[in-house]
Amino acid sequence: MNDSKSLLSKIAKTVRDIPRSGIRDFFEIVSSREDVISLGIGEPDFVTPWHIREAAARALERGATSYTSNLGLLSLRRGISKYVENKTGIGYRPENEVLVTVGVSEGLDLAIRALIEPGDEVLYHEPSYVSYNPLIQFAHGVPVAIQTKKENGFRLTRAELEEHVSPKSKVLLLNYPNNPTGAALSKKDVEEIAAFAIEHDLIVLTDEIYDELTYDREHYSIISVPGMRERTIYLHGFSKAWAMTGFRMGFTCAPPELTEAMMKIHQYTMLCAPILSQEASIEALKHAEKDIVYMKAEYKKRRNYIHASFEEMGIPCIRPDGAFYAFADISKYGMTSQEFALKLLDEQNVACVPGTAFGACGEGFIRCSYATAFDDIKEAMVRIARFIEKL
Ligand code: PLP
Repeated sequence: MNDSKSLLSKIAKTVRDIPRSGIRDFFEIVSSREDVISLGIGEPDFVTPWHIREAAARALERGATSYTSNLGLLSLRRGISKYVENKTGIGYRPENEVLVTVGVSEGLDLAIRALIEPGDEVLYHEPSYVSYNPLIQFAHGVPVAIQTKKENGFRLTRAELEEHVSPKSKVLLLNYPNNPTGAALSKKDVEEIAAFAIEHDLIVLTDEIYDELTYDREHYSIISVPGMRERTIYLHGFSKAWAMTGFRMGFTCAPPELTEAMMKIHQYTMLCAPILSQEASIEALKHAEKDIVYMKAEYKKRRNYIHASFEEMGIPCIRPDGAFYAFADISKYGMTSQEFALKLLDEQNVACVPGTAFGACGEGFIRCSYATAFDDIKEAMVRIARFIEKL
């Protein structure tokens, strides 16, 4: 039993068969090198605002070291409920419709596991966040990827949905503003998708972790469409707009039956989210508006710069409407996106993520995160220009 082959044979097939995240592999290469400018990681370069960190420190001083209610601190759930209502016009009862999770990552896992039985199909759009496909498979569901198109600005259309729906479709998973493309939806887009979900009696999971970060239009949530609150799990968290990735804080808002189902899994696996992070999040919801405005203005400046630079170089790139990623089309250089990214790293010490990390239809693209210091972005763009000149 001690050789690697027999140990591997003990691992559940579903887990064995799912490849590691393409981002992780790529960044192991990056971390082995020096002087690399990384446009790779989707993590704010800002440190969490001081007053939020201070709230965690004060809570620690007070001796806040216990478990909390499984759902999370009631005062935090009240704050979340108010925040979501202000944003979307839709109210959720803090007592039984809000669940505090360990990042949106846990929320996604709970939502999928609470709903999916073996063979149920989950419609989702690609290129997509790297976790969606594996999480569906871990739950023994069937991931049905819908490839969105550059020509449509990577916005999911009703026609594309109609092509993929089947009697086994149970869930539609959405993520706008989108990682990795930066695409955002108009109110009309959202209404069309909502009509489709109602017509086909689907439950919608909407990952709106980037909702604060839209640059040219107001974000419109699918829960605001009449008839959607009752069939939607709304997922959000503090990692991005509040620059709190390390606090690992997220939340779900959903009708009581769905919240209770997710809470059961959460209760037996996670018990509760860490209390210090919950205390910090109470402060984040009360007093971080100015911080968000400041960081968003910075991202917008960088977005404009990175987009203009790609255009100037002749690399097509849709103008990202939201999140903090530019998805650039490098297909004309005759390399796979993996080859392009490795060669760029090798020759110019710039790291970006090959588009295929986000699904097969990401071939021909690279994702560049602009949650990176402005000076680094400037230097990276000089290096990319130098790189393509030689090709
Ligand atoms: N959803 C999307 C679309 C993301 O891009 C990310 C992180 O990059 C997550 C969820 C995970 O976020 P969290 O840090 O809240 O677990």
